Amino acid sequence: MGLFSRNKTVTGTSSDSLETCAEKKSFYLLVSLILFQHLKTLSFDLKEIGADQFQAQIDDLADQFKKDDNIKKTRKLFDANKRFISEFIETEKTYFFNKETEFKNIIKLLSSGIATLNSENQKFISNIHEETLKLEEITQLDDIRKIKEELAVNLSNVKSFIQKKQDQDAEQLEQLANKVEILKVELEVTKKTSQTDGLTGAYNRMALDTKLERLVNEDKRGFSMMMMDIDNFKLINDAYGHLVGDRVLIALVQKCKRMIREGDFLARYGGEEFILIFPGASLKNTVKKGKVLCEKIAGTEYAVDEASGSKPLSFTISIGVASRQRGDTVAALIDRADQALYKAKHTGKNRVVSEKKLKSL
Ligand code: GH3
Ligand code: MG
Ligand code: MG
Repeated sequence: MGLFSRNKTVTGTSSDSLETCAEKKSFYLLVSLILFQHLKTLSFDLKEIGADQFQAQIDDLADQFKKDDNIKKTRKLFDANKRFISEFIETEKTYFFNKETEFKNIIKLLSSGIATLNSENQKFISNIHEETLKLEEITQLDDIRKIKEELAVNLSNVKSFIQKKQDQDAEQLEQLANKVEILKVELEVTKKTSQTDGLTGAYNRMALDTKLERLVNEDKRGFSMMMMDIDNFKLINDAYGHLVGDRVLIALVQKCKRMIREGDFLARYGGEEFILIFPGASLKNTVKKGKVLCEKIAGTEYAVDEASGSKPLSFTISIGVASRQRGDTVAALIDRADQALYKAKHTGKNRVVSEKKLKSL
């Protein structure tokens, strides 16, 4: 406002000659026109604050000053415009102040966003850091067009760094997912191996203990189990050798696996003794199953050495059957099955004895 607030008339003093007045007038006119031109140049081409209208009015004013046909008309035009010029300057100042605040907020947001990004990737961080520094420099620029241009470059750099980082992260994530998959498979294999008997492929003693513990203490359904032992296995070993003995163990497991259903459980209890668990099965049905198994095993002949024409091998098994009872423990259950097996052995082998028969025998 201060620039145009004083209404000093540009006229000569009483002591000035006409010539001096004319000289002063042409000088002040020149200065006015130059100032009008600067005023136009200083205003940015911002349509949103009416810069085009402002520039057109300055042109009108300059034209009127140049014409100078009527001092009253010129003064009237100037008076009409001086407030408008002051207001435009204020509007422009406010506009830049607001824009600067806006940019500063964006920069602040970008800077804080950037600062929170993963610190693992040092290259990424240093690139982004550089851009942050540039952002700070941008705030020092006065020219809004330059600020816009620099911000665009800066933003595109940041975008490309982020894209690169995202790509890297996605790739790393995929690699990690693959590794996790491989580890899962390996873990599954290791878990299976740790639960499996190396010779026969049946579950091992450790897996059996875990299974029985869980079934006895947690499973609300009842279950039955067979304790199975190969009859006279020592004789088989003695007659055919240990390797054949091993093959007999493998053959027995394969036969059992073919007979049991999914959810049933076959484990090597030790030596030539195995335990079969049948979740949900009654004692009676398990005894029946045991009988079928005994018959099948006894009825199978195995060629030992076809080339030498030696006699085929056959063997039998004995089974003791027990069911989980109310308040049972694993030890008590195994003990009853073991006693039933013992009785099967002592009543002739190749047979099934139920725990029910324990008292009567
Ligand atoms: P019973 O009818 O009373 O069960 O007599 P058995 O001969 O089967 O029982 P015994 O306990 O006298 O002998 C078991 C034999 O099983 C002794 C042992 O060398 C053999 N054995 C244990 N584990 C293995 C194995 O992994 N491979 C082989 N080939 N033999 C084994
Ligand atoms: Mg035995
Ligand atoms: Mg035996």
